[in-house]
Amino acid sequence: MRDRKTHLPLIIVIAVTVFLGALYVGYNRTLHWLLMEDAYSVGMDWAYHMETHLPELMGSVGTDGSIEDAAEPDHNELAEFALEILAIGNIYQIDFINANCHCDASFGTYLTPLPEGSGEKEVAGATNDGLRGDTPLAVKSASPVGSVTVPSKAELDHVFAKEGSHHFANASENGFRLPQDRALIHSIIQEGRQDIIIRRDAPEFQPHVFAEVFYPVLSGGKTVYLLRILVDLQEREALYETLLAAGSLALLLLVALSFAYPANKFIEITRGKKRSDERARFLANHDLMTGIANRNAFQEQAPRRFAQCKSDRTESLLFLVDIDGFKGINDYYGHHAGDQILKEVAKQLRVNFPDDSLIARIGGDEFAIIASGDSIKPGSEAEFATIPGSFEINLNQRMQKLDVSIAAGMARFPRDGDGLQELMLNADLALYSAKKSDDRSFGEFDAHLRRKFQNRVNVLRDFALALERKQVVPYYQPLICTKTGHIKGFEALARWMHPQKGVLTPAVFHEALEDREIALALGTYMLDAITADMAIWKSRGVPFETIGLNVTDADLLRPGFALNVIGKLAANGLAGNELAIEITENCVFGGDKDIISSKLKELGSAGCHIALDDFGTGYSSITHIKDMPVTALKIDKSFIREIADDSADQAIVRAMVDLGSAIGFKVIAEGVENAEQLNLVQSLGCHLVQGFYYAKAVPAAKVPELIAQINRNRAKMAG
Ligand code: C2E
Ligand code: CA
Ligand code: CA
Repeated sequence: MRDRKTHLPLIIVIAVTVFLGALYVGYNRTLHWLLMEDAYSVGMDWAYHMETHLPELMGSVGTDGSIEDAAEPDHNELAEFALEILAIGNIYQIDFINANCHCDASFGTYLTPLPEGSGEKEVAGATNDGLRGDTPLAVKSASPVGSVTVPSKAELDHVFAKEGSHHFANASENGFRLPQDRALIHSIIQEGRQDIIIRRDAPEFQPHVFAEVFYPVLSGGKTVYLLRILVDLQEREALYETLLAAGSLALLLLVALSFAYPANKFIEITRGKKRSDERARFLANHDLMTGIANRNAFQEQAPRRFAQCKSDRTESLLFLVDIDGFKGINDYYGHHAGDQILKEVAKQLRVNFPDDSLIARIGGDEFAIIASGDSIKPGSEAEFATIPGSFEINLNQRMQKLDVSIAAGMARFPRDGDGLQELMLNADLALYSAKKSDDRSFGEFDAHLRRKFQNRVNVLRDFALALERKQVVPYYQPLICTKTGHIKGFEALARWMHPQKGVLTPAVFHEALEDREIALALGTYMLDAITADMAIWKSRGVPFETIGLNVTDADLLRPGFALNVIGKLAANGLAGNELAIEITENCVFGGDKDIISSKLKELGSAGCHIALDDFGTGYSSITHIKDMPVTALKIDKSFIREIADDSADQAIVRAMVDLGSAIGFKVIAEGVENAEQLNLVQSLGCHLVQGFYYAKAVPAAKVPELIAQINRNRAKMAG
């Protein structure tokens, strides 16, 4: 395909050359043929006519063709006859050549102009007896004298010329030239053939184009006389040339036209193909939405950039950028809004980074940038991955400002890795740590991050193993009614019974809880464990009321989760309202909120309580919660920690209590560690409290004892 394309101009040039060459040859051949036809019909016809009259003109001609043997021709009659023929127009010279190759007589109407002032000049032996009055034609006897009649100036156009019988020379002294070839004439006489030769080989000779028509007069199979008739083809040629030129032009036009359509079509197709090729190439390498490079192009170009850096001994910076809460934006404001944000972010990155940077969108809301280390001042890296805090976007025909922030992680080539894969991994770690950091915006990779990452990998692996080995157990922390001091239930919290390190809290293995697979395994595990514990308590008459189970969106999105929970409760002889599902705010706010909501409704209709955990730390809004089958809000402990000294925290907690109560939720304060906090949340209207003030989480076996102890304390307080 490629070859055909590159050879196309050459093929066209060759085709056009061949065509024009053929046209040229055709033109010349046709012209020649037409001239031959003309010469034939004029010259041969008159030669035949002449042949029939020759005997009377020339007298008797000897059978051997010798002129000496022939009677002296009657010059006057000969001249008259020749004159008649010459007067026809096309014929301008007639030569009588005898069998010995000698020209006996020559009659003509054309001669080349003589030199100035030559006048009438007698050449030795020349006579002028053939001149007839004012007839502008000279006729001279063909006596073998070797004389030439030189015409006067007035006779320049029509002169008779006679060649000496001894020499058949091409040119006379006057410049009068006879284009002829003695050998040729000899062969014509010998073979007795008719011949026509088109000549244009004497430019100084008038006319420039003429035909030499040879007509042998035969007697007894021998040439006795050869008539040579020169036919003037100049005018005819001019006419034919005009006609042929017009014809050729018409043909050219016809061919051009007949080629023009397919050629045009071809060009159109080629252009279209080129365009679609270009488009395909563009599509293959660009992200349609933002117009910047796509993942493909990035993966292809990045190694080249690094190789260049290596040879230049310079540094490259690889940035990974993602948009905070993009999924939420997309879900809440719609994909159109998400698309606009992506475009704005891409635009901003293009503005910020140096022109020669490679900027690509490599995933949903992930961007990767490779910039030359020289073009970015050390210490200012974070600025390049910064965007304005909000973008004005079009939401349902209305411009609205949306707050958007991005996080970026950066790794350096070659310091942090000598290949794309390693650098991406390290930049990703930096991004991950940036998101975990307080300002959530920028992180640069360092070796410490790798250790942390390694640690995370170890934790994930070890915790998964611990789950398999049943080294994870639920601990239970009570929830107390602020009004009565009664235990209203417990929250089940996972503890890792580490063979060497002892009892570990999620503070050690929280990274494992963020892993979907492990979270799912833990969810199943905890449900089994707590329903087993509840069944035992129930059989022993332990008044546990409600047990809270922490679930993640991974649990809720698992098909059959609600049914499984309900089935487990039933199998253990437990009622739905003996279980509280604790779910964080962000979980019900995310993209799958509809599925999650329907799962929660299933559980709710089975009697389960639904508590919104860590309330106040997430993104949920009232409009959201009111549609959810939530029954309780658990105010995050961060609002309780300094509530005694922070009036703002008090105001927030009051607002949350008012709001929750107004909708009909139970409001629970988490992390109550002392009496002051307890009194405050009590006075602010919290229904339940949970915290170290009452108890830390205890193993299942210690729950009856804990209940007894709290009841004792309550009685003591009341007493
Ligand atoms: P959470 O659901 O908010 O659980 C309450 C956490 O607060 C528990 O931490 C508890 O020990 C702690 N806490 C209770 N009272 C106080 C207090 O007065 N002061 C302070 N400083 N902390 C208090 P824990 O057990 O370390 O659990 C941490 C988080 O781990 C939990 O937060 C929960 O999100 C997660 N988690 C625990 N167990 C499970 C589980 O079985 N499944 C899932 N998915 N997540 C769990
Ligand atoms: Ca919880
Ligand atoms: Ca909580």
